Amino acid sequence: MLKLQSILCCLVMASAFAAEESICLPSPDFSKCCFKGYRQAAFADRASGVNLKSEIIGGKLLIQNYGHGMHGHSITWGSAEMVASYISVENKRPVAIIGAGVNGLSVANILLDRGYPVTIYASCYPPNTASNISPYLWEPAKAPRDDQKDLYKKLNELSYLHFRDLTASASPEYRGVTMIPVYTFGASDAIKAEHKDVKDVSVTFCSGRSYKGFQWCTIAIDTDLYVCDLFRKAQEKGAYFVPRTIKNKGDLLSLKETIIVNCSGVGAKEVSGDTTVIPVCTKFMTFEPQPSIEYAAEVFEGDNRLFFYVPGSYRLSLGVITSKGDKACDADEVKGHKLVKNAQDFFAFP
Ligand SMILES: Cc1cc2nc3c(=O)[nH]c(=O)nc-3n(C[C@H](O)[C@H](O)[C@H](O)COP(=O)(O)OP(=O)(O)OC[C@H]3O[C@@H](n4cnc5c(N)ncnc54)[C@H](O)[C@@H]3O)c2cc1C
Repeated sequence: MLKLQSILCCLVMASAFAAEESICLPSPDFSKCCFKGYRQAAFADRASGVNLKSEIIGGKLLIQNYGHGMHGHSITWGSAEMVASYISVENKRPVAIIGAGVNGLSVANILLDRGYPVTIYASCYPPNTASNISPYLWEPAKAPRDDQKDLYKKLNELSYLHFRDLTASASPEYRGVTMIPVYTFGASDAIKAEHKDVKDVSVTFCSGRSYKGFQWCTIAIDTDLYVCDLFRKAQEKGAYFVPRTIKNKGDLLSLKETIIVNCSGVGAKEVSGDTTVIPVCTKFMTFEPQPSIEYAAEVFEGDNRLFFYVPGSYRLSLGVITSKGDKACDADEVKGHKLVKNAQDFFAFP
């Protein structure tokens, strides 16, 4: 059904009417009876952006691949391609990857496809990584510094092409990747200008409320399915998995492999001794899956996003609450209640 929605979405985009179109949409149920609980995890942010580089230490090739920030999924395939380019094609030596989140598993799958023996060392495996938690809409990651604009452009492009191919395939290698329509309401012109191929719409929800906004299409990733498939495929391709917590850089360099790729996310603080890593705790409120909701929506007050929701096979996710420097990620019920109230008020009967 989502495939059909994605085709319709793209057809609508292709026709690109200048006039505003009227659309009816089912409204989500954010009532208490549908509430499933909070889902939360921390991702690794760095003021200087992603750490993507290779160096030789004590005769070992050490490649860093962490600090992707809030758009870790958006640039994951681009980062993985770059990691692979740092490794000599002729020399198929065994590779150690630290981390079994989306970044470690994307690197693993690319290297396994190219014939490298791969061992993944990680404290946690799917479904227990931060990468599994985040419901995800593809948006280009922004370079935090001007001198990284070209790098981020390349990472965004490579990743987008990879995800787009998955949406186009009849039997994709990894499930959970679809093109869906997103409806944006109340946003400033600056926010609107960030999106390509937008179409003005007037939406009437089943609750009876009507709003003007705009529609755009993007890739949605159902991470419950997608990250588990990345994991399963790496297993099928012959990766070894070793549950192990790397305590520090000395521990990292003591691994027997001579090529080591560090994809440990927030763990890079310990694994690489990188004090610039900032854990950002992010949480969603989740509701029972609602099959009629085949779109995502976001509601702004100018530049300030009040809430957004994203469909998924196992849950409808309402977000988002973030707090920097908070690795423990305790649920903030006050902020959670505010989020739900904003959403309920938006859909309340007029
Ligand atoms: C709720 C939420 C919503 C998000 N929304 C989006 C979005 O819409 N779009 C987007 O692009 N991104 C989003 N992100 C960010 C994105 O999820 C992350 O950037 C991405 O998942 C990071 O992947 P990773 O593989 O680097 O890290 P992780 O998924 O955190 O994986 C790290 C791996 O390293 C292992 N590890 C850590 N420390 C050690 C150690 N010392 N020894 C051994 N193993 C270790 C862990 O066990 C784990 O296996 C969101 C994140 C969250 C939490």
